[in-house]
Amino acid sequence: MKIRDIEPTEIEVMSVFVITCFICSEKHYISLVKSVSEAINSATKEGWHGYETTDETCSTACPKCIKEAQDNETEAAA
Ligand SMILES: [Zn+2]
Repeated sequence: MKIRDIEPTEIEVMSVFVITCFICSEKHYISLVKSVSEAINSATKEGWHGYETTDETCSTACPKCIKEAQDNETEAAA
């Protein structure tokens, strides 16, 4: 058997978009999308959002931190 290089046509370039939670630094990787706006759409479906409360603004938060912020707000309001 002779070993040779793999076929270039079998190689695919794939971009990965990485979103980092501003609060806990958790990272979310999104591949198979082509643009930042598609990455945002995909992350939004997974529960990633930015948020604003009366005393806090967060640009990007993971689903866990969103939930925590919501709970805190509910507690503060109660
Ligand atoms: Zn987080």
